[in-house]
Amino acid sequence: MILMKDIIREGHPTLTTVAKPVKMPVSDLDRKTAFSLLQYVINSQDDEISAKYGLRPGVGLAAPQINVSKRMFAMHVHDMDGTLYSMIVVNPKITSKSPEIVFLNGGEGCLSVDRETEGITPRHKSISYECYVYDLQQNDFVLRKGSLSGYPATVFQHEYDHLDGIMYTTKLYVDIPGAKPLFDELEIET
Ligand code: ZN
Repeated sequence: MILMKDIIREGHPTLTTVAKPVKMPVSDLDRKTAFSLLQYVINSQDDEISAKYGLRPGVGLAAPQINVSKRMFAMHVHDMDGTLYSMIVVNPKITSKSPEIVFLNGGEGCLSVDRETEGITPRHKSISYECYVYDLQQNDFVLRKGSLSGYPATVFQHEYDHLDGIMYTTKLYVDIPGAKPLFDELEIET
């Protein structure tokens, strides 16, 4: 079980290193790591479990954040219409991006960043992706193409950046001309 002590913080070199592709088929060890990422995020959103273990709530966690420099992450996030996007993602590629740029009004947050940050971070409103995702029915990682829009797309891009060693703290702006706010007064921790 991943705890806050297992999550590395800004300044750690792994967070600014480009992570290596996960070898396919996914090994038992990588599978265990991938599952633990999703479990952390789910646990962190449970009031009782997060209080018991002192977990900071988040909607996503990438392997480099637990000092495993491999291209995988988990996200567990509800869109504003209540749709749940719960995914374990391995070796993702973003295959297209909409030209529209959006940002979270309250700015982004990150489980690897312990300080308050000021500024907004540009994200593409919609993205298409290709990656291996864990498929519960097949109990295996399967290649999947899909697209995301709005908040889940922002979370995906934040996590994807972690795989490229990019922290959102390097993408903080006071104003982004032409960009639109996704919502009002919402913060994410990823
Ligand atoms: Zn993050």
